Amino acid sequence: MDDLKLYGKNEKQLDSLVQTVNEFSDDIKMEFGISKCAVLIMKKGKITQSEGVRLPNQEEIKSLDDGDSYKYLGVLESDDIMSEEMKKNIKNEYLRRIKKILKSKLNGGNIITAINSRAVAVVRYSAGIVKWTKEEMRKMDRKTRKLLTINRCLHSQADVDRLYVKRSKGGRGLIGVEDCIAIEVQSLSKYLEKSTETMLIAVVKEQVLKEQRPNADNIMKEKYERYKAKELHGKFIRDTEDGRHRLTWDWLKKGIIKKETEGLIMAAQDQALRTNAIKKYIDKADISPKCRLCGDRDETISHIITECSALAQKQYKYWRHDKVAQIIHWAFCGRVGVKRADKWYDHEPEGVIETERYKILWDFKVQTDHQLEHNRPDLVFYDKQQQSLVIRALGTIHRDVPEWLKKLEMYELIGKFQQACILGTARILRKVLDT
Ligand SMILES: [Zn+2]
Repeated sequence: MDDLKLYGKNEKQLDSLVQTVNEFSDDIKMEFGISKCAVLIMKKGKITQSEGVRLPNQEEIKSLDDGDSYKYLGVLESDDIMSEEMKKNIKNEYLRRIKKILKSKLNGGNIITAINSRAVAVVRYSAGIVKWTKEEMRKMDRKTRKLLTINRCLHSQADVDRLYVKRSKGGRGLIGVEDCIAIEVQSLSKYLEKSTETMLIAVVKEQVLKEQRPNADNIMKEKYERYKAKELHGKFIRDTEDGRHRLTWDWLKKGIIKKETEGLIMAAQDQALRTNAIKKYIDKADISPKCRLCGDRDETISHIITECSALAQKQYKYWRHDKVAQIIHWAFCGRVGVKRADKWYDHEPEGVIETERYKILWDFKVQTDHQLEHNRPDLVFYDKQQQSLVIRALGTIHRDVPEWLKKLEMYELIGKFQQACILGTARILRKVLDT
């Protein structure tokens, strides 16, 4: 038993109720927290001063003065719920917790989880009890985003709806104050409607929650659709729809990168970074839209990460392509028991590794009878016992995934390898890596 509230029609009845509770508490050896108790007498709807209530042991429960309040289950009340005071307290506590969380060294995923469970929960508790206005809730959400931006967790031009989309759908997974209250009020209403308790049935009859009840069922779906429909922000999510894989958002779901990095990647996907093309076509700046490095094409995020000739050799080949291939090579060596470095980044793949059972080729030109354009696959793994062959070719693309896969002509290519080169009768395991 925690907080207990007694109602009586008059002081006499109230006194009798208090004595009953006192007797019962004595029986079960529980004491009154007398300093936390108060009596409130209302006459004709107004708070009136009273003597308080005296217990048999002469302890006194004092009267609550006009203007004073008491806390019942964490909610400030007097003759009514003290909404304004509650709102002020909740807002301050909510923002205090967010600031504290953002100062922590938590990674991108845990920052959001911590905000949802430690800060948003403070607001959630008040849903259906404190009457928030739309503007008040939106103001808190705006303030939250501002704090995320100040703490370099969210790019100032990044998509707002995406911030609230679930991580499994490509968003950041933050729970907004407005959404949280709407969903909570809705579930409270559903709970009340199903209840068979007399008092709760009375609450439904009084329509306490009726006017606040929104249609909260589709909040998340609507946010996602709105984000996707946006001309610029939604371009990435639309362009990559066909090529998406169940692991595409794994990096977001795991959330193990730094909050700054997570924010930057998402801003790049939202076309929120001010590249020359964005400055020229969106901001209408009087500059050339061309790439600052190669000068050949428009400087878009897609150009920078996939097709800039000035970045191709070092940034793409060495820092991205070779490093990814190195991890796969290192992992495969580990799996088949070939000696490897402890850490993937210390691993130096050899051109050819051959054991009794396996043959691993790294960036190795394969001899073929027919002239093949792509005869230098990144990685070739051959299992002599199983007669299986895995050829890995890594690439990064930004759009038109199905087109790209078609162009690769993987099936034909693998067929030619099988027929012409190493193994004649090898069984092929086809695998195309996602981008
Ligand atoms: Zn370029």
